[in-house]
Amino acid sequence: MSAIQFHGGGLTALPPLSLYIHIPWCVKKCPYCDFNSHAQKGGLPEAQYVDALLRDLESCLPLVWGRPVTSIFIGGGTPSLFSAQAIDTLLAGIRARVRLLPDAEITLEANPGTFEADKFAGYRAAGINRLSIGIQSLDDAKLKALGRIHGRDEALRSVEIAHRHFDNFNLDLMYALPSQTLDEALADLDAAIALAPTHLSAYHLTLEPNTLFHRYPPPLPDDDLAADMQEAIEARLAAAGFEHYETSAFARPGRRARHNLNYWTFGDYLGIGAGAHAKISFPDRITRQARYKQPTDYLARMAAGNAAELDQTVPREQLPFEFMLNALRLTEGFPLALFTERTGLPLTRLLPEIDRACAEDLLERTLDHVRPTLRGRRFLNALLERFLP
Ligand code: SF4
Repeated sequence: MSAIQFHGGGLTALPPLSLYIHIPWCVKKCPYCDFNSHAQKGGLPEAQYVDALLRDLESCLPLVWGRPVTSIFIGGGTPSLFSAQAIDTLLAGIRARVRLLPDAEITLEANPGTFEADKFAGYRAAGINRLSIGIQSLDDAKLKALGRIHGRDEALRSVEIAHRHFDNFNLDLMYALPSQTLDEALADLDAAIALAPTHLSAYHLTLEPNTLFHRYPPPLPDDDLAADMQEAIEARLAAAGFEHYETSAFARPGRRARHNLNYWTFGDYLGIGAGAHAKISFPDRITRQARYKQPTDYLARMAAGNAAELDQTVPREQLPFEFMLNALRLTEGFPLALFTERTGLPLTRLLPEIDRACAEDLLERTLDHVRPTLRGRRFLNALLERFLP
């Protein structure tokens, strides 16, 4: 028998359900990228892949019967390599199979270098209502150092096209880039703010294992300079009216990413497509799934009826850490009751560690709410380790 019991026999209500869709191709692999993305060779098997995605979704339906889908995120890779017709077929197929809420946020990731005005008008007509654009920088020298396929002009043009068809879009920006100074990082940020996005994600460039940059590291700013950049970026975005609501995410009021908030509040998500991950709750357990990562494997497995490489129940001992791994990314923290609501575990499982972290100025709590302090946010990994089983 497990050492940890579900509270009162399990979850009393199932969390909101979202849908993640992975499109695994890019024009070229960036040297810092550890996502499941593969350089496009020849034409993309667009129709075959959309067909596989819809069959994948169908195979998930018995796990989530009757539950509405609150948001969709089409990520990659570079989903904007797909035609508007393919995205339309995909979204129509999803609507025919699940109950998609009428006001669902439907985001598509897009990269400069794949922007054609007609295609983006087509995405909007298909039902995409939010874009996430990977500009990364607006400095030509830095874009070159990052091995991006686009330059500043193309990034600017992509944002112009986005504005024409979408009133809600995110810009991904990176800092602590090769040889970057604090002034350069802030100039890049100012240029991005001037493009009037509703949401901005500012990521620290890190050297991930299994990337070209890890093997041949470029000259990166040291930790102190990177920390100064982070602080200055947060201050400048606050002054520009952006709410800093998650580690790397900043939004105009009312424009927080609903799909991502569902992850951070330990909601459920289906994950279809090569390498996609899913988390699905049942009254008595929480399961995780992962699909085969290689596009050809995924297509072959899906043709045989099942593309899940992993499908397992999350051990209950693991749930406090998994919950905190997500919820402590939120600047405002979370209501304590959410822990039991999402994990089915009693709050007593979490409170001793929370109180210890409060005593060390890493967390602060009231009777019903907890949030990371500034120190807790700066040392987030060390804080999270405390909740490991
Ligand atoms: S465009 Fe994005 S997903 Fe594709 S290789 Fe570059 S960083 Fe990775």
